[in-house]
Amino acid sequence: MRSRFGLLVLIIAVLSACATNTSRDTARSIAIVGATVVYPERDTNTTLADATVVISGERIVAVGPRASTKVPAGATTIDGHGNWLIPGMIDGHVHFFQSGNLYTRPDAADFNAVVPYAQEVTRNKQRLDATFKVWLASGVTSVIDVGGPFWNFSVRDAANKSAAAPRVETTGPLISMIAREQLDLGDPPIVRIDSADAARALVAREMPYKPDFIKVWFIHQPGDDLAAQTAIVKATADAAHAAHVRLAVHATELDVAKAALRVGADYLVHSVFEQPIDDEFIALMRKNHALLCPTLFVRNGYRLALSNQWQATPEEQRLADPQILAAMHDLDRIPKDKIPPRVAKLMADKPALASPTVSLQNLKKLEDAGIPIVMGTDAGNIGTLHGPSVFREMALMRDAGLTPLQVLRSATTNGAMAMGRSDLGAIAPGKLADLVLLDSDPLVDVGNLSHAQRVIKNGVVFEPGALIEGIR
Ligand SMILES: [Zn+2]
Repeated sequence: MRSRFGLLVLIIAVLSACATNTSRDTARSIAIVGATVVYPERDTNTTLADATVVISGERIVAVGPRASTKVPAGATTIDGHGNWLIPGMIDGHVHFFQSGNLYTRPDAADFNAVVPYAQEVTRNKQRLDATFKVWLASGVTSVIDVGGPFWNFSVRDAANKSAAAPRVETTGPLISMIAREQLDLGDPPIVRIDSADAARALVAREMPYKPDFIKVWFIHQPGDDLAAQTAIVKATADAAHAAHVRLAVHATELDVAKAALRVGADYLVHSVFEQPIDDEFIALMRKNHALLCPTLFVRNGYRLALSNQWQATPEEQRLADPQILAAMHDLDRIPKDKIPPRVAKLMADKPALASPTVSLQNLKKLEDAGIPIVMGTDAGNIGTLHGPSVFREMALMRDAGLTPLQVLRSATTNGAMAMGRSDLGAIAPGKLADLVLLDSDPLVDVGNLSHAQRVIKNGVVFEPGALIEGIR
């Protein structure tokens, strides 16, 4: 894994050197003057007060004390006094084929009688530009889509062509232990694989699209043969690694997650949810140099939305896609006979939320053990909205006992590590100019991460309110 990262870092370094040489003199300059720069990658000296940050074109070219850092002639100046500047945030677990509304996972709750699933997917494709903008407005300048149909790869292309979009890494269809026929419109996001050969064949079909990860949906149900399933995961891992692509795995039980790590998982896209992790798990994470994305909110997102108890947070009211927000209370108006029985029961019972206590304890244990944690929401699942759901997730990470600095590091430094990008996730000369200017101190309260005045991606400045106004 080190060598795969090493090669990527070298390639990026060479490319960036080429880009800088040709564009430095002619590029537009921006200077952010007087802000407190935050360095989430550091353990000490984590801020620089009254700083100047100079951007030329798409890159940061200077960071230093205001008194000694020159603002180039002709630069556009942004007054940062009283503000904090952080690297653009990264969500390490999203799904663009899902919208977060009730109609987006008919395998979990079948609302085809209300909104046909094909119509929902068409909506999600047509609404991509707006979805990109809610991410940026939330201060998230990069996301990793860890699984969807083959058209996921065109989402990455669209994002990379657009200024007003986060950087997107993506993988294709999930190599899954179980089928999800309800999601199959001809280009299924989840493909049941029952042999090592079939796993290798699906990896081979994804390779021409240059996936950033190969993803396994390692669902282990009572009675399943764990050894046989693990052999499929191993075949997938070996095929991915042979092509220098990392393996992301969904595995939420301790034994299953360990099995995934033993055969080479690089990125666990969820925590172990129900059992305390142990020393062996931590040792396996370390051995693989693996990363872990805890996704603490997503399961309660389903429960809240499907029992009609979901309420938008103030951040969601401000920053979510207004179309999705408007649909989150559709259970108030859907005729009773069109509500799936399981949902009707949830609405009647109004179950108390399952406390994610074990997940929170596992997160704290991993953080204390020095395992790199990557902030990620699993956005797109029912009740977990693209964009501002990051603030629900980071509040839970705080509840787990992480410091604001550790939470911010998971959303920047470690997110960049998950992306395999050494040019993201920090404020330093040579890094890409992905930045968020906040009006309050993120190292005092993670809630302050939602107070973006400006979001800068690739050297282009956006105002969050204007981004959301533009998609109303
Ligand atoms: Zn997911």
